[in-house]
Amino acid sequence: MRIIVIGAPGAGKGTQAKLLAKHFNVPHVSTGSLLREYIEKNTGTCDELKHVMNCGYLVDDDIVIGLIRGFVEDKAFIFDGFPRTVKQAEILNEMLSAISAPLNKVIYVTIDDDIIIGRMAGRQSCSSCGAIYNTKHNPPAAERICDHCGGALFVREDDCEQVVRRRLRNYYTLTEPIIDYYRKQGIVFEISGLGCIDEITNAVIAELS
Ligand code: AMP
Repeated sequence: MRIIVIGAPGAGKGTQAKLLAKHFNVPHVSTGSLLREYIEKNTGTCDELKHVMNCGYLVDDDIVIGLIRGFVEDKAFIFDGFPRTVKQAEILNEMLSAISAPLNKVIYVTIDDDIIIGRMAGRQSCSSCGAIYNTKHNPPAAERICDHCGGALFVREDDCEQVVRRRLRNYYTLTEPIIDYYRKQGIVFEISGLGCIDEITNAVIAELS
């Protein structure tokens, strides 16, 4: 199975990608998480990369393509955060065409900006398994502790309002045009990110089954 989940920051794409990956037993590939792991393992040598991410800008295509290449070659993935530009989508298309492994579906999770800003305000991520919580809408059972793995929850530096607004601008100018690119291929499934998490997942599973 080869799926892409696209949505603005805070739309719930990461949560959905994770649940879908579990359901279909396919690797969940979050380029943001892979980049954060890479920076953590190489502390001191990635200051520039860290700065780019903390400011909410996109990192170089070469770095990101290097991270996803193996998953493309294995022909099974749920991409979360990739592609982020039409150029990246074109590169992915070429890679998949070369191995005759087309995408099954692009899941497009939509949501209003006002709700995104509110959601990001209380967002916490698990440092161990990457699960995402919101202190108001989806709190962990115990403060700052992940329900799934017991890992410590933290607030990402790029989740502050000013950076979220920049990430949103980048999303609308650079990432959203991807939807038209994939609509032309007839593989977009659009769903509102407003409902309850399980209902959204079930609707996507029904579409993919
Ligand atoms: P995310 O966890 O998906 O919100 O990504 C966090 C940050 O990682 C983004 O704001 C970018 O700086 C970087 N990033 C993640 N995926 C990509 C990508 N496909 N292309 C460029 N930068 C990316």
